[in-house]
Amino acid sequence: MPVFEYAPAPESRAIANLKDHYKPFVNGEFVDGSGEPLKTINPATEEVLAEVGTASKSDVDTAVKAARKAFSTWSKLPGTERAKYLFRIARLIQERSRELAVLESLDNGKPIKESRDSDIPTAAAHFFYHAGWADKLEYAGYGPNPRPLGVAGQIIPWNFPLLMLAWKIAPALATGNTVVLKPAETTPLTALVFAEICQQAELPPGVVNILPGAGDIGASIVEHGDIDKIAFTGSTEVGKAIQRQVAGTPKKLTLELGGKAANVVFEDAPLDQAVEGIVNGIFFNQGHVCCAGSRLLVQESVAEEVLEKLRYRVSTLRIGDPLDKNTDIGAINSAEQLAKIRGLVESGDAEGAQRWTSPCPVPDRGFFFAPTVFANVHQSMRIAREEIFGPVLSVLTFRTPDEAVAKANNTPYGLSAGIWTEKGSRILWMANQLRAGVVWANTFNRFDPTAPFGGYQESGFGREGGRTGLEAYLNV
Ligand code: NAP
Ligand code: MG
Repeated sequence: MPVFEYAPAPESRAIANLKDHYKPFVNGEFVDGSGEPLKTINPATEEVLAEVGTASKSDVDTAVKAARKAFSTWSKLPGTERAKYLFRIARLIQERSRELAVLESLDNGKPIKESRDSDIPTAAAHFFYHAGWADKLEYAGYGPNPRPLGVAGQIIPWNFPLLMLAWKIAPALATGNTVVLKPAETTPLTALVFAEICQQAELPPGVVNILPGAGDIGASIVEHGDIDKIAFTGSTEVGKAIQRQVAGTPKKLTLELGGKAANVVFEDAPLDQAVEGIVNGIFFNQGHVCCAGSRLLVQESVAEEVLEKLRYRVSTLRIGDPLDKNTDIGAINSAEQLAKIRGLVESGDAEGAQRWTSPCPVPDRGFFFAPTVFANVHQSMRIAREEIFGPVLSVLTFRTPDEAVAKANNTPYGLSAGIWTEKGSRILWMANQLRAGVVWANTFNRFDPTAPFGGYQESGFGREGGRTGLEAYLNV
């Protein structure tokens, strides 16, 4: 079957309103941080996008003081008043959505069709959803007068910069907390445009503070004595370090960490639909997704057929300029992450898995990695056990439902899983057996602010989103 040729359809970079210099946001104002400025780059071209002022330890202290002062009034506002600010923020994200989408794609490397159709609308949806909760907290099931915790320190990763910010800030504000948030070092820009949105919404100073910086600033937030809650999304390794730091203090903690999800395809599944779900599960956002379907478990009787369909479908994915509306796979976020992916792929070769790489043309500048599928993968291999966080799928097979469950659960993680089958009873049975926070049936990578998200085991603890997610910011 011929593959369509597409003419280039680039979104205009001018829409991002890129500035030469960005600053930390403390107590309602952009301030000169006293940390060493960092340069954020476009991973698709390796060019510097902007210089960003960073926070120092003393800036963390100033921001926490501002948040503490703001808490005394913000927490006492009636829920209906807090809701107005959240609705305003949601509307402003929508109004500035094209600007935010282009800026996100420039700074992160993700395809514009994903930042435009997924990241930014879902970020706005989180503010709309939580705006609706702000005046109904007494009906949330946490008692007649649920109280906020105080000042929340929030640390987020680079894979969904604005969306992870929304997951953190929207529930914190709806429940009456104030926040000090650190975006990831490689993707600080949309968080600082969000700070402008807070100003536009006339959010009281100090309710939201944004401190760009490296891991040490994250650590300073975690260890600050006047913070009541830490919410962290990132790697399991850093999550464990934070848990050790917080142990023995009164701070509350939620950790959203890594994953190695099983996507389980039974022989009775609609295979073409399953192939679309497998592709979405592992190649969405270059596979930089904590809940990515990175382990495909396919029933032996249909394994060859699924692999053949999958290789054909993956070979039609276009990799390249993230700002091109036809691009399916953009750039890997950093040279460091690219090196990590390459190292794990080499281990797959060395351990004897059978590698197939899409023959698609790959740009020679920037950080790119062609979609890759490993067959003949055994459970003991590193590519079956470790999170690759890139566009690399490991394929294992099974014969019986029991074997599928045993293999799916054979992981230190437990964030998500997928099931593909025609049989409703099998979906329910499997969903009960799988040790994963989210289980998708005949779909994958669906996100909605009304649905709680979170993990078991080394994927962390606590839930974000939905009614359950409110609990993480309430004194219950
Ligand atoms: P990471 O290295 O753990 O970084 C996450 C954030 O923590 C960044 O802002 C980072 O700053 C900061 N940080 C680094 N060291 C720190 C320390 N000692 N104390 C406090 N903060 C520190 O993770 P990543 O590589 O950016 O992100 C990828 C990981 O996140 C993957 O494992 C993925 O599965 C996970 N993730 C999980 C979810 C979920 O909801 N479960 C969602 C998305 C991603 P720098 O940017 O300066 O390093
Ligand atoms: Mg960048």
